Amino acid sequence: MDFDTALAEAWVRAVAAAVEQRQGELTELDSAIGDGDHGSNLQRGFSAVLTALDGLEPAGPGALLSRTGTTLISKVGGASGPLYGKAFRALGAALDGPAADPAALGEALAAGLAAVRALGRAEPGDKTIVDAYTPALAAYRQAVAAGEGLPRACGAAADAAEQGARDTVPLQARKGRASYLGPRSVGHQDPGATSTALLFRALAEVTAGRAHPGAGRSG
Ligand code: ADP
Ligand code: MG
Repeated sequence: MDFDTALAEAWVRAVAAAVEQRQGELTELDSAIGDGDHGSNLQRGFSAVLTALDGLEPAGPGALLSRTGTTLISKVGGASGPLYGKAFRALGAALDGPAADPAALGEALAAGLAAVRALGRAEPGDKTIVDAYTPALAAYRQAVAAGEGLPRACGAAADAAEQGARDTVPLQARKGRASYLGPRSVGHQDPGATSTALLFRALAEVTAGRAHPGAGRSG
């Protein structure tokens, strides 16, 4: 199985559905160590992405993901908008042609993480998106190197991202709003790492053909 336009669209739609469903949880996490807008930021961003996808005839998965990123950058004011926006744009730019094999998607996912790191300057352990994305990418690459296809590689990435998000609980934030709290940021799960895990779980579900109801192309 390769990552084609239909899968890219199913992924973005599954993310939008998951964000809608878990908006409250993300906002609650951001209320504890931020300003309580992470859920609504992503909800606003991904509902604009759904509108942008309507009637779009993307040349390939890369064009679709680039458009997703551009939309997030223009619609989300918080830190997460530009970070996820740049990540999706980098993913999109790395994917040329009608479909990407698992190794090529791995390179694109790596470009996405590099874009987050370039913009946000966060290191692993700073209690950010990077703490879920880094282990997810490592698990994905390990699975592909072991000969696994997209569904298992994405499943491994989602498991690792969820573990990475949980592992942010004891960390002290060193980037973003949560860093203003200093040691008081300890003991809470990072909202951005949590939404990154949600993104990877959605990817695992669509590649496994188990998308959230309502995700994917009509019917
Ligand atoms: P804001 O912090 O502007 O209110 P959000 O609430 O939407 O934006 O997003 C907060 C999340 O953004 C944090 O939980 C963290 O994971 C992520 N984040 C903040 N700064 C950075 C950074 N420099 N690098 C990576 N991720 C970051
Ligand atoms: Mg916030």
